[in-house]
Amino acid sequence: MHTPAHNEHLLLVVSAPSGCGKTTLCREVLARMPDLAFSISHTTRQPRAGEADGVNYYFVSPARFQEALHRGEMAEWTQIYGNRYGTARATIDALFDRGCDVLFDIDEPGARQLKDAYPNVITVLVLPPTLAALRLRLISRGTEEGAALERRLQRAAEEIRAMRWYDYVVVNDTIEEAVDRLRCVIIAERCRRDRHIIGELLA
Ligand code: 5GP
Repeated sequence: MHTPAHNEHLLLVVSAPSGCGKTTLCREVLARMPDLAFSISHTTRQPRAGEADGVNYYFVSPARFQEALHRGEMAEWTQIYGNRYGTARATIDALFDRGCDVLFDIDEPGARQLKDAYPNVITVLVLPPTLAALRLRLISRGTEEGAALERRLQRAAEEIRAMRWYDYVVVNDTIEEAVDRLRCVIIAERCRRDRHIIGELLA
């Protein structure tokens, strides 16, 4: 549950259809903002090459994930291509205790659940400059072609439609500019009057 004590913490959700360069963007922004921490999710999917447990994700078995859900330990969760992903309440609380603002790399259904639990969540949608640019990126990544590529592009269009309620859009044309845009959103949000206890300042 959201509590007024948490007002000073910024909770920032960053979502994007796949192929928009969101992972790189988040990594660059996190590297430049030491008081912003990444919320490490739990997942049942297998680690990819180069991924480490407790760094990219907490990799858990389906049974362990189910148990965590049953115990009400997840602040939000989702299922993507047969794998489960979720944010543990304990992960968020530990980052709050360290005094950090928190960045969540989660999907749109997860963002909705998080917003229900923490109404002051800020949501950012990362977009390619055009759908044609996204097509080129997916082609150059080389993981899909033909019908699979078309399916992924169609899914991307559906995802973008579902994310129309997001607060901000960061267009990822060049990585440097996208990093600047996302940093500006975070800096502006930190300046909001309701994050400051003005009464104390004037006392
Ligand atoms: P990947 O398997 O490529 O690491 O992630 C697939 C998708 O899962 C990404 O779009 C990412 O935003 C989303 N995701 C990762 N962790 C979570 C989580 O804890 N909750 C939700 N709702 N989505 C997540």
